[in-house]
Amino acid sequence: MPEPGPSCDVAIVGGGPVGLLAGCLLAGHGLEIAVIERRTTLSPHSRAIGIHPPGFAALAAVGLGEAVDAAAAPIRSGAVVCRGRRLGGIGFSGPVRSLPQRETERLLAERLADIAPGALRRGHDVRLVRERGAGVVLAGTGGLHLGARYAVIADGVRSRSRAQLGIGWRRRPGSGHYVMADGPDLGSVREEAIIALEPDGVVESFPLPGGRRRWVVRLDAPWAGGEGGRVRMPWHASSGSEPASTRTSTNRAPSPSTSTSPPASRAAASPSSATPRTSSAPSAGRA
Ligand SMILES: Cc1cc2nc3c(=O)[nH]c(=O)nc-3n(C[C@H](O)[C@H](O)[C@H](O)COP(=O)(O)OP(=O)(O)OC[C@H]3O[C@@H](n4cnc5c(N)ncnc54)[C@H](O)[C@@H]3O)c2cc1C
Repeated sequence: MPEPGPSCDVAIVGGGPVGLLAGCLLAGHGLEIAVIERRTTLSPHSRAIGIHPPGFAALAAVGLGEAVDAAAAPIRSGAVVCRGRRLGGIGFSGPVRSLPQRETERLLAERLADIAPGALRRGHDVRLVRERGAGVVLAGTGGLHLGARYAVIADGVRSRSRAQLGIGWRRRPGSGHYVMADGPDLGSVREEAIIALEPDGVVESFPLPGGRRRWVVRLDAPWAGGEGGRVRMPWHASSGSEPASTRTSTNRAPSPSTSTSPPASRAAASPSSATPRTSSAPSAGRA
């Protein structure tokens, strides 16, 4: 097969938040770009939710400040609680904006379509990235055969392209196991993130847009509950900062994989909801 000549300035492998943002930034500077993404649709999972001020500044730089503000839920403070006592708290001078990653990706994809129509090319799994002459060539499924002056590798933590190109990275030691679920927030601490350091375990809880809340429960072992499985919630019953949602029945859950529960009872949880900080954690689900 003949090698293609450069047909764009920069080919970006991966249309996650990093690839899409890079695409918006580069296209905004007038470069011809292509973002190659193997998924044909957005991931259904919420994944990363916290947009801190530097991340917000990056999104604002591509014109998404207002849209993110409108879609996100502000997190204005954080608190640590234990056995019903508030051990400490911190206020955020600029709020952390809570927005499910799929929404961030949706906004970025829409913005990219504005700046560079057709630049996002879905449905191509990049199988080969190779330096060739003064540029690079990419090949992949769906007839992908593309030349570019540069490639940006943004295909995630399990990047195949990075390995192919011999780009090294360092794995940090340590691992942990978590399970998480998004559910309705029926409490009174809507704009506060809470970490409960209870004798029975650690629970983190974060506001989400749309009157919802994320729960993250630390586990001692890898999650084995399967889709819609149940996890014991070690939240202390008398916690003064306890959001009311922890007192709700699992019946209040809007979907099989999202639920909150009474303290010291059981909550439906997504099997997929472990954080990515651990290689031993289950992979993404309807968290
Ligand atoms: C359950 C879960 C919860 C998380 N919670 C948080 C959180 O609270 N806070 C936080 O900061 N982070 C969180 N993360 C991590 C966060 O999701 C990642 O850091 C983020 O997605 C990284 O963005 P990225 O664009 O680098 O990679 P990705 O989002 O992985 O995007 C890479 C893209 O490249 C595509 N791709 C991969 N290989 C190819 C290929 N060969 N050809 C074409 N396309 C390809 C993929 O389909 C994907 O769309 C969580 C992750 C998970 C799974």
